[in-house]
Amino acid sequence: MPEPAAGSVRIKVEACGICYSDSVTKEGTWPGIQYPRVPGHEIAGVIDAVGAGVAGWKDGQRVGVGWHGGHCGYCDSCRRGDFVTCQVAAQIPGIAYDGGYAEYMIAPAGALALIPEGLSAVEAGPLMCAGVTTFNSLRNSGARAGDLVAILGVGGIGH
Ligand SMILES: [Zn+2]
Ligand SMILES: [Zn+2]
Repeated sequence: MPEPAAGSVRIKVEACGICYSDSVTKEGTWPGIQYPRVPGHEIAGVIDAVGAGVAGWKDGQRVGVGWHGGHCGYCDSCRRGDFVTCQVAAQIPGIAYDGGYAEYMIAPAGALALIPEGLSAVEAGPLMCAGVTTFNSLRNSGARAGDLVAILGVGGIGH
């Protein structure tokens, strides 16, 4: 059972989506990846333990972690609020640290997203990577509620 270090929480994993990008962990194609490594970056679960110095999170909260699994907070990308492109310490679960294909995992508090009560873990997990990718495309497209859109590529992110 891993213990959360300062700034991190332990998550009891309830669901973890499967993403094509998990193959970089399996195949060893991510530069510098170190083994053993547990894949999985579409995680939904419940906070089970909170490390020192973590503010705003507590045991029992339902949380998700996605491709963005932590950031430095001070590089040019982070200062623009573009944490997912952090140039110094981009932390991807399942690549930089053990991911969600496990019963428990440790994640930096800065990587957590709160999951609302009405959303099941099975539904929330895939939103953490594939879902947010599609959502951000729609959000930045200029389309408004009620607009007609076309989604290509059903079978992966298009779902
Ligand atoms: Zn993914
Ligand atoms: Zn950064």
